[in-house]
Amino acid sequence: MNEYQNLWNNILNSLKEEYDENVYNEIFKNCDEILKVENNYIYIVVPSALIKFRIEQFYLKRIKELIPIYTDKTIGFKFITKKDAEFEKSNNNIATKLVEPDNKNIGRNLSSIYRFDNFVVGESNRYAFLTAMKVAENPVIIGNPLYIFGDVGLGKTHIMTSIGNFVLDNNINAKVIYTSSQKFAEDYFLATSKSNKEKIQAFYDKFNSADLLLVDDIQFLEGKTATQEEFFKIFEHLVSQNKQIVLTSDRPANSLKNVMARLKSRFGWGISADIKTPDKELLINILKNKLSFLIEDPDDVSLDVLQILADSFPNNIRDLEGALRTFVNYCICMNCAFTKENLYISLDKILPKGAEEIDSTKDIISKTIDAVCKYYKISKNDMVSSSRKQQIAYARQMLMYILRINFNISLQTIGDNLGKRDHATVAHGIDKITNLIDKNNVIKNDYDLIIKSI
Ligand code: ADP
Ligand code: MG
Repeated sequence: MNEYQNLWNNILNSLKEEYDENVYNEIFKNCDEILKVENNYIYIVVPSALIKFRIEQFYLKRIKELIPIYTDKTIGFKFITKKDAEFEKSNNNIATKLVEPDNKNIGRNLSSIYRFDNFVVGESNRYAFLTAMKVAENPVIIGNPLYIFGDVGLGKTHIMTSIGNFVLDNNINAKVIYTSSQKFAEDYFLATSKSNKEKIQAFYDKFNSADLLLVDDIQFLEGKTATQEEFFKIFEHLVSQNKQIVLTSDRPANSLKNVMARLKSRFGWGISADIKTPDKELLINILKNKLSFLIEDPDDVSLDVLQILADSFPNNIRDLEGALRTFVNYCICMNCAFTKENLYISLDKILPKGAEEIDSTKDIISKTIDAVCKYYKISKNDMVSSSRKQQIAYARQMLMYILRINFNISLQTIGDNLGKRDHATVAHGIDKITNLIDKNNVIKNDYDLIIKSI
């Protein structure tokens, strides 16, 4: 263990010299304990999930660069929170075995941030997630290639990278290559542009020696015939060597245009899994998960705020996450609370137009429905149901009237919120009350009391 402790101490000393004292103290001061060494990874105990996240996000790259200065061995670092470390200790799940490595592959431009354990699962991505886990656990057996597709920003790269990290976690010597199809095309172009034989050979050697090849955004191979040709050869070679390939795309394999038929049919050989548009529950869960890495107490941000964010970015988790970060960063810098008002201020230019209006309209509608239901002692379900019972129909018309006359809400929006009633039905309901209200004291009295209660 001493050897590892020395290595880590050396790295800490280098970091101390490189970074500002305050930064160093804030991040690394209480990070000197080693929990275990397993699969060539040294596990460092860190005080909190936040510190772990910051190290992985901002410092791990530098740490990786420092390792070869102090050791020839292929060693990686992992960070585990004190809480998790204690749990492991209590389960006696501690190993210190070091299998002598034969080459250096740690990372290989694979982001260590994207992992299965920080991928939030919901209806829309469960199948892709489970399939990816199976492929990571049993490469080649489940299907080769694994083809993951779905719209932009929905988690394809995250899932694909998680497979790579999973494989590396279990075998630091595994040769995991991550590339995008654009980068692949660029590498090929550079290798061939000067017809330098060595370069071309190096290109083939690199890809043909992969144990796991991850190629992101394969749709950009469209129309690039020469690159497709090369990719086909590498694909065939790896498959024949029983090496797993994982591809992502924004569309199913059979919808790719200008891709050679034989390549397309290879893509369809294995197993494909799509990621669909997330539902609101998943969006909220993702936001909560991301918050737990951004601030100490995620409950400081109310559900209200999360809902506005989820409503504003329903189709792209990358944008959703970006908006959350901007908001949190603004509140921290300005030292203000994580409120709805500050959300609107911080995301003024980012939130889709009208988000604030939509939010306040929703609020008004929901409060008015509550007040009218309470007054007439009917349930919300009845209010939005198709029931035409006289008392329910009357209460519903009163509700329409108040929303339109007092709050100027559009007929369309009123109808949408009342069991998807059409424009004409809403207009008719409002007319009915308008005609009666000046003539009938009971109705006028009902109206006055409801307005008072709102
Ligand atoms: P894609 O490759 O489909 O365009 P990414 O994998 O790059 O999308 O995802 C965009 C961002 O959204 C990333 O930061 C990723 O971590 C995050 N993300 C997407 N889906 C999830 C999820 N289910 N749980 C946690 N984060 C997610
Ligand atoms: Mg991507």
